[in-house]
Amino acid sequence: KNKQRKTTQMDFEKMGGLIPAVVQDADTGQVLMLGYVNEEALRKTEQEGRVTFFSRSKNRLWTKGETSGHYLSVVSLHPDCDQDALLIRARPDGPTCHRGTVSCFEQPQQTALPTAPVSFLAELERLVQRRRQHPGEEPDSYTVKLFQKGLPKMAQKVGEEAVETVIDAVAGNVEGLKGEAADLLYHLLVLLTASGLSIDDVVQVLRQRHRTISAGERRD
Ligand code: AMP
Ligand code: ZN
Ligand code: ZN
Ligand code: ZN
Repeated sequence: KNKQRKTTQMDFEKMGGLIPAVVQDADTGQVLMLGYVNEEALRKTEQEGRVTFFSRSKNRLWTKGETSGHYLSVVSLHPDCDQDALLIRARPDGPTCHRGTVSCFEQPQQTALPTAPVSFLAELERLVQRRRQHPGEEPDSYTVKLFQKGLPKMAQKVGEEAVETVIDAVAGNVEGLKGEAADLLYHLLVLLTASGLSIDDVVQVLRQRHRTISAGERRD
């Protein structure tokens, strides 16, 4: 069945055919790179679901990842207010920069640019998923060991950390609470991953409830 796809309308004429496109990691919000798209590149991006630029140095269409395999899988396309710049939200298959860094706006020697606090959970989730899929990479990792012990052990850890969190909160031990809440979030993330769920699945439920409440409904 032929899917009817939405075409993104941009003002190519105003821009002499080339529009700057910022690529953002759809999960962490991190800015990954900047490229340019002509109309052909944009249509190819929409059709194939992988980011294709027009490379001015190569003077041809360039699908990011065509030789490295580190494609950018499109999640959504967002023109700016006057259609002369494009935001692309995507999931990278590997480091986006040809130097091997996650982002082109990152110095290999210096420390990585920190992501927004909550986005760090997406980064951590990715690492947990990696430990689950490739345990051999870090056989001594605590996360790998948790996956080997199995789901009941993970569930037990979540219970323990929840109790420790509650105890510190009730005792007014704010420093302790911080650490126990961190333990709880981490172990919950591991349990969710082992159960085949992602933070995104959970956030979708929260978003749905949020919408319901904003719509003026009461909830108990
Ligand atoms: P790739 O598209 O990842 O297969 O890389 C092909 C070539 O494109 C590389 O050898 C680099 O010359 C160039 N390249 C790859 N990624 C980037 C990037 N993020 N920014 C600029 N040039 C890149
Ligand atoms: Zn603009
Ligand atoms: Zn780069
Ligand atoms: Zn703890």
